[in-house]
Amino acid sequence: MAKQEKVRKRILVIGGDGIGPEVTRWGRRVLEAVAEKYGHEFIFEEGLMGHAAIEATGDPLPEDTLSKARQSDAILFGAIGHPKYDQDPGLKVRPEQGLLRIRKELGLYANLRPIKLFDELLAASSIKPEVLQGADILFFRELTGDVYFGEKKKAEDGSWASDLMIYHTYEVERIARRAFEAARQRRKTLCSVDKANVLESSRLWRATVQRIAADYPDVKCTHMFVDNAAMQLIRDPRQFDVILTANLFGDILTDEASQIAGSMGMLASASIGDGTGFYEPIHGSAPDIAGKGIANPLASILSVALMLQIGFQLQEEAEAVVRAVDQTLKAGYRTVDIADKHTPNHMMVGTDGMGQQIIRFLS
Ligand code: NAD
Repeated sequence: MAKQEKVRKRILVIGGDGIGPEVTRWGRRVLEAVAEKYGHEFIFEEGLMGHAAIEATGDPLPEDTLSKARQSDAILFGAIGHPKYDQDPGLKVRPEQGLLRIRKELGLYANLRPIKLFDELLAASSIKPEVLQGADILFFRELTGDVYFGEKKKAEDGSWASDLMIYHTYEVERIARRAFEAARQRRKTLCSVDKANVLESSRLWRATVQRIAADYPDVKCTHMFVDNAAMQLIRDPRQFDVILTANLFGDILTDEASQIAGSMGMLASASIGDGTGFYEPIHGSAPDIAGKGIANPLASILSVALMLQIGFQLQEEAEAVVRAVDQTLKAGYRTVDIADKHTPNHMMVGTDGMGQQIIRFLS
């Protein structure tokens, strides 16, 4: 889209629980700053989800939030979760039900997680800088299938429980096509991660990806078992370009890969389907730091960059946000999770201090 074209978009903001609202506030402020700078019109609405929604309405995804979501062009989400539910797995109404349901209702089948290390944070990772430098991975994690949605069973006497790991070919096909398309725009390499040596659903996954790969002869497609992938990610992350994987494997591998980016507080994600996209940090509600004003808002701000790029095709605006993050880090500003005493000019800031610097560089 040409620079001078102005867009008008409706954005639903769902802060959620814990640090969710604290960081999402800055995601929204960044969107406001982008609108002002580039002359776009972003119309904001707010919605409840998770524990906050259960407290207010008894429902983790109230009808009001869902209907606003359906009318929006994009959703900016924070995080859900509260220790109350983590300590009592028996509670029937749970915050994560809201998240799972909104993904299902909006048909969000692909979760995109770019893993890219800002040079300034090389020292903040627990992995050696020479292993990390230049790593740039785009994960495609499937979102609607797998053990999360398969049939769940439990013995009356509590002696066993099971979750069905299930995939349908159409679910694998549609995300595989998205991943191959993305690989075409990048370094034309796609690694599909599964456990086809032992799992039937993984064998279906692999056969389907192989079939789709035939339509993308310009993309080099490889397959890797998930246990090996977990090891290779840390041993040599630069070997990967696009990683395509199922819901459960993707959940675990992307958290592992967050260490490549320095912190959970740096990683953004986009969940997409054929309609409204959902943009969120990969981290949770972080109850250990909630209310202390120290949460890193950069994952939320980078989620906004993904919204601009993927949701609204505003490439220049998206790059401006990423550049503002880069400049802020170069200037030495650090939240506690990415603090590193080796940075000579490093300045500790809280959530608001970090957000303000981003707005300053952006404007
Ligand atoms: P978490 O991501 O909330 O926190 C893990 C660790 O990373 C914590 O030490 C936390 O302080 C730190 N951290 C996370 N985000 C940070 C940020 N922006 N800045 C600085 N530090 C940050 O994961 P958890 O502790 O396993 O889960 C806490 C709650 O969040 C649980 O209730 C869980 O169910 C929920 N959860 C929600 C989502 C989601 O909403 N998408 C994702 C994961 C976990």
